[in-house]
Amino acid sequence: MVKELTCVVCPAGCKINVTLDESGNITDISGYTCIRGKNYAQSEVTHPVRTLTSTIPVITKTGEHMLPVKTSTGIPKELIFDGMKELKKIKLTHPVKAGDIIVHGFLGTDADIVAGKDVI
Ligand code: SF4
Repeated sequence: MVKELTCVVCPAGCKINVTLDESGNITDISGYTCIRGKNYAQSEVTHPVRTLTSTIPVITKTGEHMLPVKTSTGIPKELIFDGMKELKKIKLTHPVKAGDIIVHGFLGTDADIVAGKDVI
C-alpha cells in the first residue's frame, strides 16, 4: 500500500509516497527532497502531530483582549479537538508577555501553551 502525502514543512509542497507492508510498517519513502520531508512523512504515517493555535481572552483595565497562543511543539492529531475545548475554559488577567507559558504539559503531552504576544 502506498500513502501519498504533500509535505507541509515548507512551501515547496513536495509530493511524498510512503510504502507500507501488510503490517503497516514503512518499507520505502520517496519523493522528498530533504531530510525534514522524510521525517515529516514518517511521523505523519506513524504518529501524526499538529501545532495547535488558538486565542485566549485576557482581561485588562481597558477590557478583554484576545491573546494568540500555540503549542510549543506538535501534539497528537487526535488531541486537537480536546485541546480546543480545554483552551476555551481559560481566561487570563494581564499582564501577559510574548513567550509566557500559559499551560505546562498541555493534555499530558510534552507541549506547552505559549503566549504569542504581549498583553499589558
Ligand atoms: S521535502 Fe523538504 S523541500 Fe520538500 S516540502 Fe518538505 S521540507 Fe520542503
